[in-house]
Amino acid sequence: MSGSECVLRLRPHHGLCASFFQGRGYSAAFVRQMSEIIETLYCGATVELTDSTDDICAACPHNINGVCDTEQKVRQYDQRVLDRIGRHTGDRLNGREFLALVREQIILPGQRSFICGDCEWDSLCQM
Ligand code: SF4
Repeated sequence: MSGSECVLRLRPHHGLCASFFQGRGYSAAFVRQMSEIIETLYCGATVELTDSTDDICAACPHNINGVCDTEQKVRQYDQRVLDRIGRHTGDRLNGREFLALVREQIILPGQRSFICGDCEWDSLCQM
């Protein structure tokens, strides 16, 4: 998070992770961070879409010196989300608006598995 205004830097595909989060994740620290960020999102924080490690990655054991160790894969997830919600890297939007776009453009039309169906957490992210 940055600045006096609460701005969350988020990779676009984390809108999906946040939507299906059930209190499980890569480590206890990661789960705590994820829970706090989701709460902040629903409070209407501003989201800045980024194409690199973000405020969720900050507590992830897969974040190796600022680079995701599955970068190639998650970069594809990010681009697929951007394409479907009609946004670009660097765009800023309200957190609730971001989650609503993800829900309306991806989850409800049944597009989620085409974006990240090969993720290890896939089985948790079913409607
Ligand atoms: S797996 Fe990669 S993209 Fe996902 S939270 Fe960890 S560092 Fe970030």
